[in-house]
Amino acid sequence: MLSIQQLHKSFGDLEVLNGIDLKVEQGKVVVVVGPSGSGKTTLLRCLNILETPTKGSVSIEGQTLDFDQKVSKKDIRTLRRKTGMVFQTYNLFPHKTALENVIEGPITVQKVDKSEAKEKGIHLLEKVGLGDKVDYYPFQLSGGQQQRVGIARALAMDPEVMLFDEPTSALDPELVGEVLRVMKELAQEGMTMVVVTHEMGFAKDVADEVIFMDNGSIVERGKPGHIFSNPKNERTRKFLNLIN
Ligand code: ADP
Repeated sequence: MLSIQQLHKSFGDLEVLNGIDLKVEQGKVVVVVGPSGSGKTTLLRCLNILETPTKGSVSIEGQTLDFDQKVSKKDIRTLRRKTGMVFQTYNLFPHKTALENVIEGPITVQKVDKSEAKEKGIHLLEKVGLGDKVDYYPFQLSGGQQQRVGIARALAMDPEVMLFDEPTSALDPELVGEVLRVMKELAQEGMTMVVVTHEMGFAKDVADEVIFMDNGSIVERGKPGHIFSNPKNERTRKFLNLIN
């Protein structure tokens, strides 16, 4: 479904990712953890080419982009449309309602008929528990509700894979659970997901594989039970001790 090979990313002289290999099978959830600055967000942003990798390749559902060669903007757009991204800050349009935020992409990008987009948008907002908030503006919604609109908005584009970049880290603690619950439901429905998070409970509960990154490399990977109870790598151990 999704694979990356020998992915490198530098910002100027700073090598932020140094040769990452990763495969995510259909319907699986990979959780990426690691200390701040280890390259987690950059890795996620390279998966949908919000950052252009310096070297290596990204494949999603049969389409491969090889960054050792020149890659066209059109190919990048095609690949990006297979992904849905949920950001740390929700990035909703402030002057649009929840429903208008959700249907914006389908109408402008996919050219879906407005009434059809609305019907689907309402269904998606119901799915994330906001059926009674479709006409609310972002300022009328809590952070957790806004983030759930963000998830519905990403789902509206029918992505093959959902990418979550620390989706709960900007939320007050009491609002984290409602967002994680929606993500867990998505996982249970078989959505393929890559999630960068510090929520270790979510990782233990939902991840098929946990990847521990440090200094631009994957230093340990495995089933959550294995990584959390018996980390082999010294850096993984230190990190887990710090956050527990
Ligand atoms: P993490 O998500 O694990 O905290 P990031 O991927 O955000 O790590 O960042 C990894 C490193 O790349 C950091 O040293 C960060 O300062 C650097 N970095 C990230 N984005 C940029 C950028 N656009 N320009 C320059 N350096 C960047």
